[in-house]
Amino acid sequence: ADLLVLDGIRKSYNVGTPAETEVLHGIDLAMKSGEFVALMGPSGCGKSTLLNIIGLLDRPTSGRMSIDGEDTTSLDEAALTRLRGHAIGFVFQYHHLISAFTARENVIMPMLVDRGRPDARMEERADELLDHVGLGKWRNTRAMNMSGGQQQRIAVARALAMNPLLVLADEPTGNLDTASAQGVFELMRRFNREQGTTFLVVTHNHDLAAQCDRIIQLVDGRLTGDRRQPAVADSP
Ligand code: ADP
Ligand code: ADP
Repeated sequence: ADLLVLDGIRKSYNVGTPAETEVLHGIDLAMKSGEFVALMGPSGCGKSTLLNIIGLLDRPTSGRMSIDGEDTTSLDEAALTRLRGHAIGFVFQYHHLISAFTARENVIMPMLVDRGRPDARMEERADELLDHVGLGKWRNTRAMNMSGGQQQRIAVARALAMNPLLVLADEPTGNLDTASAQGVFELMRRFNREQGTTFLVVTHNHDLAAQCDRIIQLVDGRLTGDRRQPAVADSP
């Protein structure tokens, strides 16, 4: 089934002013549940704008979108916030961790925002996720004392904290060295394979894109390419 459907999505900035500019010119896109998709395109083509719309952080100027069968276009702010918290996980290029917090505290944060007060289940879930990303031993280390690759692994664990349907990653490996980038990528791939989480990953890295199920190409606010790839062999 389609997890995500975009139908004629347009986005303009500075609407109603002389600076009004349309940056997305009618995006049609469907993503199936369980897909791992790369979004590529030159700087300024609208990738972040598109991710912000799909992630319910920003509204389109026109067009329709549904997530898991729910039409998001008509939802009010409270309903959007609720759906975002439960359905979407985010990974950013600059991880946006709280640097004075430990790895575990960072991963607990989305659960805390959702449920209001800490409980033992949250710690269990955080520790399970940190084990999964290979940071079990580092759970009580502050984020600021960890490497860039480790911090990005925490960010991936945090994105999975609420068990989202869809993870949106905006150049998640953009500031990592090749080995760390591959490691963080494989981690996301593993969550995708083992838990069925759907991923949409912005990347400029052709080696990583080649390991995705599908590559979509955005140029000047239009989808110009959409290519499914043969299944890649599981890494050992
Ligand atoms: P990408 O992520 O592909 O680099 P963006 O979505 O960030 O592209 O930007 C697409 C275009 O929209 C660019 O021309 C950018 O300058 C413009 N833009 C992005 N955000 C805003 C904003 N908040 N206000 C006005 N223009 C914006
Ligand atoms: P990226 O290329 O990684 O998307 P940018 O440097 O283009 O990052 O954008 C960083 C932030 O600035 C984004 O939140 C974007 O929406 C905003 N932005 C980009 N271009 C403009 C613009 N022309 N006017 C206002 N905000 C903008």
